[in-house]
Amino acid sequence: MAVLEPERAAAGARSVAELDEVIAGCRACPRLVAWREEAARVRRPAYREWEYWGRPVPGFGPGDAAVLVVGLAPAAHGGNRTGRMFTGDRAGDVLFRALYDVGLADRPTSTRRGDGMTLRGVRMTAPVHCAPPANRPTVEERDTCRAWLVRELRLLRPTLRSVVVLGGFGWQALWPTLAAAGRPAPRPRPRFGHGARVALPAVAGAGGPLTVFGCYHVSQQNTFTGRLTPAMVREVLTEAARAADLR
Ligand code: SF4
Repeated sequence: MAVLEPERAAAGARSVAELDEVIAGCRACPRLVAWREEAARVRRPAYREWEYWGRPVPGFGPGDAAVLVVGLAPAAHGGNRTGRMFTGDRAGDVLFRALYDVGLADRPTSTRRGDGMTLRGVRMTAPVHCAPPANRPTVEERDTCRAWLVRELRLLRPTLRSVVVLGGFGWQALWPTLAAAGRPAPRPRPRFGHGARVALPAVAGAGGPLTVFGCYHVSQQNTFTGRLTPAMVREVLTEAARAADLR
């Protein structure tokens, strides 16, 4: 099977929906292809009855979103199982509940691709679309996957006004991606922190003003220890929606 080359394939996508379809066929990172498919074959005992997605997990949400939530990568038995970003693990449960609470999702729980859930004005994605071992993509894998997010940012350009970045990995990945999409990063590069907020001016040909928000990742490590509470997630999402003029 010919390996699809992300940069060229992404550039050919004419809509977000098309991009989502093409991403799902990517096999550019051999280690991640092996890992996602192994997880899908072996499965966790609790999910023995599931037919795992076992492919790159595309972004989820409307193609004219005003807010983009950027995480890290799908989990082997979460998004890699359900086929939807942030779906199938505790981290996603916290995020979807918060989206629902602030009026950006039509239901509090996301169960799987095709369950009918609708997001309002918000889309979620990741800098790496395949589940990595130990949730740690290599630098090379992150850089190989960048082309998809660059294209997603370009396609969302007409409507996108806020980006919520969950965790330091996504934060580091976002700036060079934004730069490749035509929005140079401020210098010095803004530091990640929960509550960080960076306003970027409109750039001719690259989109209107954009506000980037930092939020601790919704991982169990953060939510179980109380480092990140549901109220903190709601607060960042509310601010992002306000900055994007979503009412
Ligand atoms: S991580 Fe990204 S570039 Fe690598 S195989 Fe998955 S979708 Fe393709």
